[in-house]
Amino acid sequence: MSSFDFGPMPDTAGFFGQFGGQIIPPELKAIMDEIDQAYEEIRKMPEFQNELQMLLTDYVGRPSPIYYARRLSDKLGGAKIFLKREDLNHTGAHKINHCLGEALLAKYMGKTKVIAETGAGQHGVALATACALVGIPCEIHMGQVDIEKEHPNVTKMKILGCKLVPVTQGTATLKDAVDSAFVEYLKDPVNYIYAIGSVVGPHPFPKMVRDFQSVIGKEARQQFMDKEGKLPDFITACVGGGSNAMGLFTEFLNDDDVTIVGVEPAGKGLDTPDHSATLTLGKPSEIHGMKCYVLETDNGEPMPVHSIASGLDYPGVGPQHCYLKELGRVQYDTASDEECLNAFMTLSQVEGIIPALESSHAVAWAMRKAQTLTPEHTILVNLSGRGDKDADYVANKLGL
Ligand SMILES: *Cc1c(COP(=O)(O)O)cnc(C)c1O
Repeated sequence: MSSFDFGPMPDTAGFFGQFGGQIIPPELKAIMDEIDQAYEEIRKMPEFQNELQMLLTDYVGRPSPIYYARRLSDKLGGAKIFLKREDLNHTGAHKINHCLGEALLAKYMGKTKVIAETGAGQHGVALATACALVGIPCEIHMGQVDIEKEHPNVTKMKILGCKLVPVTQGTATLKDAVDSAFVEYLKDPVNYIYAIGSVVGPHPFPKMVRDFQSVIGKEARQQFMDKEGKLPDFITACVGGGSNAMGLFTEFLNDDDVTIVGVEPAGKGLDTPDHSATLTLGKPSEIHGMKCYVLETDNGEPMPVHSIASGLDYPGVGPQHCYLKELGRVQYDTASDEECLNAFMTLSQVEGIIPALESSHAVAWAMRKAQTLTPEHTILVNLSGRGDKDADYVANKLGL
């Protein structure tokens, strides 16, 4: 008998338990409701589902395989570790799954411009790719500091034809890019659409992005069954905003025997200010139009968070994760910068797979856990992206 029986989430107002919602001005609420309505319409249209399915297959290269990491498992001498290879997708990560969905929705709604912010440039590249494919103008706001740091992604966005807007105000990083993109969006929210990069922000974005990403878990559950004749004992994914994790977890929520673990960055240590463990150390509050766990300073400002993986340093987290934590259905654990680097190098040298630093957090957790188990046990890790983008940084850091 199942003790968990999750039906459709969120409720019609966008709440997952007490989390989520739409903490936005009334004029924006009307626009968000319109987006929700359009989304609910197209998700039921066979033409939309067929087009999305065709693109996921022929353009992204889905289904991504599940790979049994035999040498890594043998080396650790415990549980068998499997990898869901989102790193093999076109553009090298899971983000393309929801960017395609968002771009198709924008086109269906007759929007004239897709706007977004990007930090390290991963969301920017995936979105610029999807917009080039669908044929809709795309404008990405990026802090000047990040532009200088993330040269390859900046170049890619330009080549892909998106308009890149450098942001010099404030600290010229992600938060200022969000503010700047939002100002542009508010100039004409009827004709523009803001494409959010994770399962965060006001309703309906946490739901929509999750739905577009849930292809990961749907494939993985079937693939694992076909391979092993049973479900995995553990499934795990890194959690920044939480989209690749929700993408894997959703299909397994009603499988009581599957232990689900989200891995947050402990950075330089949970006892230092330099981490980004929102669900582990944050508290319920509000950020970016939603109620969720937030890492805040004593005077209620979002903390300047840290992770070696720039895709994970966000002081909020998707509302559905907050709800699943409260219910006890998903456990949240952490991996430090150091464990992440070790996992990055180990997977590279034992399996010939260079993982993204973000994904390396989930690999690090799996490596730690596997050693406490036996080969009858299985762990499925979502390898959310490839590490080409991180190779120079890691080589520098380790003096290679
Ligand atoms: C952006 C990114 C993440 C973090 O985003 P989530 O919404 O938490 O999934 C993780 N892995 C990779 C490779 C990314 O590019």
